[in-house]
Amino acid sequence: MSPLQLLFLGTGTSSGLPLAPCLTLSEPWPWSIAQTIPTSSAKSPPKGGFDPNGSWPSNIPCACCRSAVHRDVPEGWKNRRGNTSVVVRKKDKKGQWRNIVVDVGKTFREQATRFFPRWGVKTVDAVILTHGHADAYFGLDDLREWCTRQGKPIPIYLNRATYEIVANSFPYLVDKSAASGGGDIPTLQWNIIENEASFEVFDIHVQALPTHHGVYFRSPPETALPTAGSASTKVPPVKPVPEPLICLGYMFDREIVYISDVSFIPETTWDLITNRYDVRRDDNAKHDNVSDLIDGVKRLTSHSKAILPTPGMTPTRPRTPSSDFIPVQSVPSSFNRRSSSGGRLPILIIDALFPIRTHSSHFNLAQALDAAMRLDAEITYFVGSSHPTSHYMWQEICRSFRGEDGQRKDHPDNDQCKTLLRNLMADEQFSGTQDGKESFAQKLIHWGGRAEPAWDGLVVQVGAKDGGFQELENESAGGWGI
Ligand SMILES: [Zn+2]
Ligand SMILES: [Zn+2]
Repeated sequence: MSPLQLLFLGTGTSSGLPLAPCLTLSEPWPWSIAQTIPTSSAKSPPKGGFDPNGSWPSNIPCACCRSAVHRDVPEGWKNRRGNTSVVVRKKDKKGQWRNIVVDVGKTFREQATRFFPRWGVKTVDAVILTHGHADAYFGLDDLREWCTRQGKPIPIYLNRATYEIVANSFPYLVDKSAASGGGDIPTLQWNIIENEASFEVFDIHVQALPTHHGVYFRSPPETALPTAGSASTKVPPVKPVPEPLICLGYMFDREIVYISDVSFIPETTWDLITNRYDVRRDDNAKHDNVSDLIDGVKRLTSHSKAILPTPGMTPTRPRTPSSDFIPVQSVPSSFNRRSSSGGRLPILIIDALFPIRTHSSHFNLAQALDAAMRLDAEITYFVGSSHPTSHYMWQEICRSFRGEDGQRKDHPDNDQCKTLLRNLMADEQFSGTQDGKESFAQKLIHWGGRAEPAWDGLVVQVGAKDGGFQELENESAGGWGI
């Protein structure tokens, strides 16, 4: 059985990093940069990376964007981040990798040209989309050359809401009569999935995990206007109806959970993840009684009226039920609620936009760590992070939550990093207590789980002979040369 590999094609926000206005010293600076610039900088410039009186790029205050162009920062290239996206792959019976790309956003072409040659990715065998934002699907048009060379349509898996957005944005991708002719267009095969679908793609088991990614506040449809001559009526003010944007996370082979854009995880989705172990035990156990196995499979596929027929050209827009609507998940919410099965999730990949600030459509660090503790993940990788927090700073934050106080290595961003860590530890998300006993920061240290910032080019693997997960140094692509 081939191991399952996951390749980080992108780990950044919709804008990607670095940001041009940071590099051009365009003002005003985002106020969030103040969280990482030592307050003494006005009078006595700090030692290290940021030097307000120095020459470019030393005078860029944003440590993240500066590092991305400053060759003196050893791992600075890890601050070049494309739209969050991964390739999941497994070898088929002929020993060929079958590559599934999760999200093809605005930076897909750029990221593919950076990493596919290094990784030996020669085919795009399927694409799975999380939601209908530009950083998740704007690269669909760039699949055209892959379709041409592969000589067959590429299957695309997406929910109905995302399909409708894609159809509105790129009519010619779903209806060839909308193409004016002359230019090649990608040939895509559309597979509309339910929000809790489970399905197989090239021997990889995929479980969709619906999460909330911010909230719409739409006004209900207008009622009929009074006609001329009818009695004048007072129309009551229309109240906008809050409705979550559903973004699909995915679980691959019940080993890797990928949640790229999230502000709230419904209980039913937590259950889909934590219940995976019952199924896996059934799969692995030696069965005297075949009905046990069948029960397990039934449970596994109970959500899997997975793939609906390819829709017609004028799909209706169903409203997403908003019964479990909560705008932003409280922070933190679920200490010590580990999986009842006691099993550990091997790999969790989760959205963490900022270390301290909260956001209406993304998790921050505390929320992401809360999810990691709840799932008791063996390793958690953060994706979707924004500036000015650099890769080095994220690493130092993670180190401090593992209780590692040792000497920091010599690094140009140490002054800014110390300021950020001090602000982080003073913030009530980490310093406050939920039950009057332990602060969130102390609980994290006791938990001791491993969490790291991901980076574009990193490759991880599960299901190898020796079990557990591995970071594959040889397979990973990186360095200033890329
Ligand atoms: Zn920046
Ligand atoms: Zn989004």
